[in-house]
Amino acid sequence: GDSVFAHIPHVPEVPLYAMLVAFSKDPTPLKLNLGIGVYRTEDGKPFLLNVVRRVERLLVNDMSTFKEHLPTTGMAEFNRLSAKLILGADSPAIKENRVTTVQCLSGSGSLRIGAEFLAKHYHHQHTVYMSQPTYANHPNFFNAAGLAIKTYRYYDPGTCGLDFQGMLEDLSSAPSGAIVLLQACAHNPTGVDPTLPQWQQIRQLMRSKGLFPFFDSAYQGFVSGNLDEDAQSIRLFVADGGECIIAQSYSKIMGLYGERVGALSIVCKTAEVASCVESQLKLVIRPMYNNPPIHGASIVAAILKDRDMCNEWSIEVKAMSDRLISMRRQLFDALRDKGTPGDWSHIIRHVGMFTFSGLNPKQVAFMNQEYHIYMSSDGRINMAGLGPQTVPHLADAIHAAVTIG
Ligand code: PLP
Repeated sequence: GDSVFAHIPHVPEVPLYAMLVAFSKDPTPLKLNLGIGVYRTEDGKPFLLNVVRRVERLLVNDMSTFKEHLPTTGMAEFNRLSAKLILGADSPAIKENRVTTVQCLSGSGSLRIGAEFLAKHYHHQHTVYMSQPTYANHPNFFNAAGLAIKTYRYYDPGTCGLDFQGMLEDLSSAPSGAIVLLQACAHNPTGVDPTLPQWQQIRQLMRSKGLFPFFDSAYQGFVSGNLDEDAQSIRLFVADGGECIIAQSYSKIMGLYGERVGALSIVCKTAEVASCVESQLKLVIRPMYNNPPIHGASIVAAILKDRDMCNEWSIEVKAMSDRLISMRRQLFDALRDKGTPGDWSHIIRHVGMFTFSGLNPKQVAFMNQEYHIYMSSDGRINMAGLGPQTVPHLADAIHAAVTIG
């Protein structure tokens, strides 16, 4: 007889992934992938950090790294070091045992577990406010947990910067108790972050209205090249003694995309609350995958616990952020030298891995057809996909798209 699944309609691939397939099939040597959010070397190759290479060699020879399971909450040392990395070595919240951290499947898994936990145990407002626009997968994590999604204004196409007034207005009119998703730094997809004084205002408003902060940190160090500096937004919210949730990803900052390493931290008012929260997080995790994988967390813990390796890592993070800044400069200079119409200074004002170029879907399609450039239709450029050799090609494409395209 027929398949029991015969009624299931086919769903088209997510556009960004469909584009990846088209890119891999394109035989042109000049083709350029600026779509997917992955860090690349100057020659467009995947980047394995030296410190990761070094640690993996040590782990292979270390007889203590058996393939036993971790506990449901993951590797205790990894959790402790992850909290320290994001909250700071001298964080009072950590010293007072008010933070519970569980190892999750990268940033995505941390967001998902955080969303499930809130859906089950947060009783104020089952609505999550997220920036307009935001990372394409963000709504999915929360929708899947049954939470409602709303947006707050964030990006101003007029200035190619932050719509700070709009953001404050929308947060002001959100119902008290609503959850607000905030990207800690290097905002995806816009490349626009609030300044520290603006974060302070956002914090004051959110605390006074009882809005609950959920931070997503996927790019710590990619903005300033300094890990502490890029955690300031979160640390402001923790310093006031209030509560928040933090999802951390090691995909980008350690180049561990395929290892799926991340952490979910819940900062609570008291140690008692944190302990109860942790016991409930186990009940969320156990029916999903029971416990997380060991290899990636071993790599991260080995780096973070060793002063020398941690130092080597922070230098590699600085190098990645410097390369992103240099690509911004080179692209901006190339457009200026060609006399490309328009103001392109936002390319150097934007931070982190992405820039919201302002190119429209028609121009993006033109650049794809004529120049074999692959990027998402909203005009987001992954600066890490560029190198000194490919900047001229992209500048030619942008110039053509805005003059004749
Ligand atoms: N959060 C943001 C803002 C991202 O840009 C991404 C990936 O692009 C993620 C989370 C999830 O990444 P991962 O699950 O690989 O940690």
